[in-house]
Amino acid sequence: MNDLVAPLAFAPSRAGAPPLLRERGQREVFCGLTSIVWLHRKLQDAFFLVVGSRTCAHLIQSAAGVMIFAEPRFGTAILTDRDLAGIADANDELDRVCLRLLERRRDIRALFLVGSCPSEVIKLDLAKAAERLNARLLPQVRVLAYSGSGIETTFTQGEDRALASMVPVLPSTEAKQLVVVGCVADVVEDQLRRVFDALGIGPVAFFPSRRAVELPAVGPNTWLLPAQPYVGDAVRLLLTRGARLLEAPYPFGAEGTAAWFAAAAQAFGVPGERVAAVTQPLADRARRAMGRYRDALQGKRLFLMPDSQLEVPLARFLSREIGMRLVEVGTPYLDRQMVGAEVALLPQGTRLYEGQDVDAQLDRVRAARPDLTVCGLGLANPLEAEGLATKWSIELVFTPIHGFDQAGDLAELFARPLERRARLAV
Ligand code: SF4
Repeated sequence: MNDLVAPLAFAPSRAGAPPLLRERGQREVFCGLTSIVWLHRKLQDAFFLVVGSRTCAHLIQSAAGVMIFAEPRFGTAILTDRDLAGIADANDELDRVCLRLLERRRDIRALFLVGSCPSEVIKLDLAKAAERLNARLLPQVRVLAYSGSGIETTFTQGEDRALASMVPVLPSTEAKQLVVVGCVADVVEDQLRRVFDALGIGPVAFFPSRRAVELPAVGPNTWLLPAQPYVGDAVRLLLTRGARLLEAPYPFGAEGTAAWFAAAAQAFGVPGERVAAVTQPLADRARRAMGRYRDALQGKRLFLMPDSQLEVPLARFLSREIGMRLVEVGTPYLDRQMVGAEVALLPQGTRLYEGQDVDAQLDRVRAARPDLTVCGLGLANPLEAEGLATKWSIELVFTPIHGFDQAGDLAELFARPLERRARLAV
């Protein structure tokens, strides 16, 4: 394990960064609708209405679980043959469905119209629909639109599109503030906020926050600190509103979390001694929590298939703090603006791939026979059947993994499949 980076002034060197290899071919990823699963839990006054087919409804319902007793905060307006054939006016139908829904559900303050492959194929303009509905519904309800279509997005990009749809309606501010960008679980938000308070950094807003109507303001004195590497489009739109981006690793593990807070501390002029006094004990505790799993993971060979866009930060964490050896790190899309600091921390010679050609990648997995493969759900079972241990990458998006308090749990997520396999082998 490497030592913790200096608590202040994170300055990644690009000199030793591994070269990027690119691959294009068949993809095996969920579409952006999947992100509704965690977004609807976070935004407690919002409703996500997928405008799609029965397939879309099945996907979202099986991914999120069917809520029998609770009023769900997501649903699907199913496009029928009449809509697809242009016999019915899909715009009229959509307005009718939205108004009926909002009539019944007075608790909804923000309605997201989520596009899908079918709505895009018939060129149903959901942005126009949102405009039309806003003219009738604002200020009681705000209607927003984005695409979760599998033609355009991988599953985490759905969140990026949702946040990007909100940026144009954020109020403006001249005040100095920090905005953490990317959805984190409420418990994580509270933990991170406590550390910001101890550092004297504030005001701090989280985007998205628990209520869709509580929009953070943005302006030239707003510092953006991304919590997720896949919110690049939203960040770029926030930059056009004058905000400035802090470059840092992501808050995974002790090292990443310390550097993440240090980047914010530097922007807010917090003295290095105070940063060390606040973060060092937390980082020490995180390292102790990770230590329980390091023995099981150290030296083990890891293959990350492109899926969630979390691959590069996780590879940095698992190689530098846990001692795993990286066979290959794949990511669906490598956004240098968002993960440049992470790429610079990967070990020299890391095989780093952008894009997907699933058959070629599976051939490389089979040839390398890594100790652990992080991949999508659809690939895990066949690889397990071939005797390879796997970890579902989607689990890393659903599980709280950010910050000092979660560092041990994050390491455990990777140790568990190896432990299970070892037990089965006895
Ligand atoms: S949006 Fe496209 S990829 Fe996603 S469930 Fe619907 S049809 Fe399938």
